[in-house]
Amino acid sequence: MATAEHPTADTVQDHHAIEELEEIVARQRAAFLADPFPSLEERQGLLGALAGMMMSHRSEIQTALSSDFGVHPDVAADLIEVLGPAGRATYAAEQLGSWTASEPRAVDPALYGSGRAFVQPQPKGVVGNIVPWNFPFDLSVGPLIEMLAAGNRVVIKPSEYTPACAELLREMIRETFARDRVDVAVGGLELARAFTRVRWDHLLYTGSPAVGREIAKAAAEQLVPVTLELGGKCPAILTEDSIDAESIRQVLATKAIKNGQMCISVDYCLVPRERLEQFAELAAAHATDSMPGYCASSSCTGIVSMHHLERIERLLADAHARGCDVRPLEDAPAPDPTSRQLPISLVIDPPADLALMQEEIFGPILPVVAYDSLEQAIDLVNSGERPLALYVFAKDETVSAEVLRRTTSGGASVNSAAVHGALASLPFGGSGQSGSGRHHGIEGFREFSNLRGVFVRGEGDLIEAFAPPYGPTAQAVVDAAFAAAG
Ligand code: NAD
Repeated sequence: MATAEHPTADTVQDHHAIEELEEIVARQRAAFLADPFPSLEERQGLLGALAGMMMSHRSEIQTALSSDFGVHPDVAADLIEVLGPAGRATYAAEQLGSWTASEPRAVDPALYGSGRAFVQPQPKGVVGNIVPWNFPFDLSVGPLIEMLAAGNRVVIKPSEYTPACAELLREMIRETFARDRVDVAVGGLELARAFTRVRWDHLLYTGSPAVGREIAKAAAEQLVPVTLELGGKCPAILTEDSIDAESIRQVLATKAIKNGQMCISVDYCLVPRERLEQFAELAAAHATDSMPGYCASSSCTGIVSMHHLERIERLLADAHARGCDVRPLEDAPAPDPTSRQLPISLVIDPPADLALMQEEIFGPILPVVAYDSLEQAIDLVNSGERPLALYVFAKDETVSAEVLRRTTSGGASVNSAAVHGALASLPFGGSGQSGSGRHHGIEGFREFSNLRGVFVRGEGDLIEAFAPPYGPTAQAVVDAAFAAAG
């Protein structure tokens, strides 16, 4: 049922959406069985169509994002939601010949004669993709690229928090692809739950760890393989030699992209204790010199809903109530309910039990936590859940290499933040509570492929040795193996 807190479609609408989902899945399953292995050329054609779809709907995408977020920068829509997936599709199309090629594997000729072995990536079948609200196109169409590259049929379920983007996505997809190849199911929470009960050949879920747990349970019921792209608290460790304007610009940039509503935003910074004040001064100078009037500008994305805005305001109110040093980087009036723009605030050295140090912030608040030694900073990161991304700023490469060696995260950037997530060639995903599995690049292609191991018999083998009743051939094979092992 729809509430002010959760904009679920009403039950009747969801009922229709669930019936439609069943039809969509049945249609795609029948199509998969009839044509289970699209050619390289067909897949490249689909990827080209996808890139063209994004480029030709550029202005509608900008409008839909502005409608759902209150304010959304057109340039950010172009960079991240249009050019990002379009470039990723072009990259996949270029690489596809080598990704789809069967890969020969070693065979012992003494036992298998002239037999051959290879790995043949095969489409998994009908794949589901549950999408969050923060990047409604990049996180729906992005993974669709590797899903199509792998030869699958795909059903996308957008978030109920971005209804304009969801409607547009459905229109774009239905205009571009046959419905038995790609389709979109739009609805509320009831539809979302029904989506997880489908016996997908693979299910991708991107969203919060809490819901991710529910998805994993539902998938386990049917032994559906899942990729979980989750969130968490991504740290940035700034080392002694890197408390400078450029590092701080990089960190603040991730708080300003989507106003912090990004899974790989810097969630909190770790800074040498004696450099905390310098960090805060450089951040304030950056805000004044390079981001004047940011909060009221068209560069500042609105917080997606009043519900999310209130959550972020509660985190700040809690920090104030606990007597923390909260420093907004600009003076801004209380947010307007239609634009929901919030300024970036630093919270200097907050206590570890403060709510904003316990939960993912997903908004424009940056805790700056003091450390006394790099050892302590690494321990602090390792005492929390494994992050989706980790950032280290160090001029000395041995220091950044040491931090990378001693921590675990889904991805990482050195002397920059979030850039690894923009590269089509790098795998993207989490570790532990921030997720499992990968999309982007060849790892995404493999994630959505069935990597079938194939043996083709040749001549002159001794495979009869394995078949009972065991006779002299089996004994000869065993004797030869022990003799060879010494
Ligand atoms: P969410 O978990 O609330 O919702 C994501 C999707 O799950 C939506 O489509 C929603 O309809 C669906 N959903 C919600 N409840 C469901 C249920 N019980 N059963 C089935 N489906 C359900 O997440 P959100 O608020 O949209 O996204 C924010 C979170 O996503 C943050 O934690 C962020 O870090 C994470 N995130 C991760 C990545 C990544 O690539 N790892 C990318 C973006 C966001």
